[in-house]
Amino acid sequence: MSITKSVFDELDLHYPDDNIYFQIISAVLESAERLDLPHRLKLMMAQPKNEIIVHFPVRMDDDSFALFKGYRVQHNNVLGPYKGGIRYHQGITLDHVKALSALMTMKTALVRLPFGGGKGGVKLDPRSISPEELMRLTRRFISALGTNIGPDYDIPAPDVGTNAQIMAWMADTYVNISEPGKRLGGSGVVTGKPIEYGGSHGREKATGQGVVDVLEELLPGIGIDINRMTYSLIGFGNVGSWTARLLHDHGARLKAVMDHTGAIINEGGIAAPTLNTYVSETGGVAGFPEADPLSEEEFYATEVDVFIPAALEQMITESNARLLRCRVLAEAANAPVTPAGERYLLERGVTILPAILCSAGGVTVSYFEWKQNRQAEVWDPETVDEQLRKLMVAAARRVNETARQLKCDLRTAAYCAALEYINKVYNLRGIFP
Ligand code: NAD
Repeated sequence: MSITKSVFDELDLHYPDDNIYFQIISAVLESAERLDLPHRLKLMMAQPKNEIIVHFPVRMDDDSFALFKGYRVQHNNVLGPYKGGIRYHQGITLDHVKALSALMTMKTALVRLPFGGGKGGVKLDPRSISPEELMRLTRRFISALGTNIGPDYDIPAPDVGTNAQIMAWMADTYVNISEPGKRLGGSGVVTGKPIEYGGSHGREKATGQGVVDVLEELLPGIGIDINRMTYSLIGFGNVGSWTARLLHDHGARLKAVMDHTGAIINEGGIAAPTLNTYVSETGGVAGFPEADPLSEEEFYATEVDVFIPAALEQMITESNARLLRCRVLAEAANAPVTPAGERYLLERGVTILPAILCSAGGVTVSYFEWKQNRQAEVWDPETVDEQLRKLMVAAARRVNETARQLKCDLRTAAYCAALEYINKVYNLRGIFP
């Protein structure tokens, strides 16, 4: 019996094999097994500490009321307060949020941040409601979560469908419902806020910057020059567009982009800053005048050095993986590749740079924001970039070194490096009482 099945049986948890939570935890438990880590650690990793579901009403612009479902899952806090984004998306499920919260536990541990892992979300399409409705929904969600979040306990951040404005509404709501004596540091309850309201320089671009820092560190060892490489991208939101704009400064050539509106190609290169202006005005890449449309299949089959998924989970199924023609797949999104897709790509010799490394820039600058809020400081943009680069390079080297020692792929190495650290802290702390 596989380690995952036996641990899940012991916990009386039952999932189908294609369930995202089952898949993510399987990879984590197999890494724990490889290191022969204690059974109790596997049990702790296999289920979140807390799973919170709230249902709350919101007054809509036409004076009707709609009921929404919100989630906050707190996977593990042995290293520090729970930390992870809040997503607004119509397809969100509890298992998705659980899977993403477990990845946050792995991510913060890999980078050695003093945080645990959490994730949250509200089931809705944020584009389908007005800005006023979005504000009321956000405020009502945060008041429904109440003391389940806090600057010393659980600190949300932006994710798919949320942004700095939404973080400002969350922080303001939390401050307003806090006891008067606790209001001063209350805005530290979320990160990714606007700079004018306690945000950090460099937070908006941080996840993209982290992807580029990792590519700069690891591509030379794979024989790819970042300044001359070709690449394609899924997703042109926060993470995708910042990754592309920063790679544009390096001279890398963006051949093809796909988002929820369609796919486009220009073999000579797509100018990411111009595309960013176009997407801000139109809402998607489709129709960009300086590129040609192409089908989803053609998009996946575009030959590039590096393929960067920066949209949603599990988009690279085995059948999409079979179309890919790249040497490196850099996971800017969380869990973009299914286990079957991953097996196929690894067998074909594609190097996969795992999400808990590649997309760790956002939570790292969130940590800097939280630190600045606690110390009432403002760091300049250069300090943020320099500190981020230091931690991203250290994490990339940690993953490479672990892969060399264990003779394994980079995802397994990243999980092993994270788990070993978590295990060390459990051993130091012991189990209360
Ligand atoms: P976003 O909402 O800003 O952008 C999402 C992008 O995905 C958009 O371009 C959208 O068009 C595209 N997309 C959605 N559905 C699609 C589909 N079916 N086909 C193709 N494209 C589709 O979100 P984001 O913040 O950029 O997050 C992207 C990924 O990065 C997510 O996996 C998120 O969890 C992860 N991530 C984000 C951060 C952060 O700081 N924002 C940090 C770490 C990881």
